[in-house]
Amino acid sequence: MNKGLIVAISGPSGVGKGTVTAAVESKLEGIRDVAHSISVTTRAPRGSEQDGVEYYFRSKEEFEELIEAGQIIEYDEYLGNYYGTPAGPLAKMAEDGKVVLLDITIEGSLALKEFFGDDAVTIFLAPPSMEELRRRLKGRNTETDDVIERRLTEAANEMKRSGEFEYILENHDVDETSEEILKIINKESR
Ligand code: 5GP
Repeated sequence: MNKGLIVAISGPSGVGKGTVTAAVESKLEGIRDVAHSISVTTRAPRGSEQDGVEYYFRSKEEFEELIEAGQIIEYDEYLGNYYGTPAGPLAKMAEDGKVVLLDITIEGSLALKEFFGDDAVTIFLAPPSMEELRRRLKGRNTETDDVIERRLTEAANEMKRSGEFEYILENHDVDETSEEILKIINKESR
């Protein structure tokens, strides 16, 4: 019987965290009990996002009340909004032998490692190069050149912190990267 494992994945905007996380979750289906942690955020829903599906959308006051009540295990600020992981479900999932993947900020991943120790593993996804990251961000066609430059500056700072993670993977290809993560999960949840 494998033990539960919290898999905290961080990396710069545009590196492909969301796609890789989804690929790992689908590869694990039927093999391991996979759970999804829904974060709380103060940012407004985007497009078709629904409360309780992508995030729990809360006001700043409500978010602060959750922190005071000890219901948020870690939280971080990103572009002026709070994002936090609810404490209860995550602790329960880890006990139940489930694999829980989270796509969170650097501070978030490090905080979960501090809290859960051997029950958590931290993975940093790096782009093959800064040029490739610039190409991917431009390819999304959703941000202005100015926003792309700011994200790239942020990315350069984030890259300097990759050494604080247990694993660093260069994301050349979603399939290859998700296979690498599966190997890490197998090794770390024994
Ligand atoms: P987005 O607004 O694009 O959904 O998310 C913005 C950033 O917040 C992403 O880097 C995402 O990984 C991070 N994030 C989402 N949920 C959490 C959370 O619960 N805790 C932390 N620390 N970061 C989060």
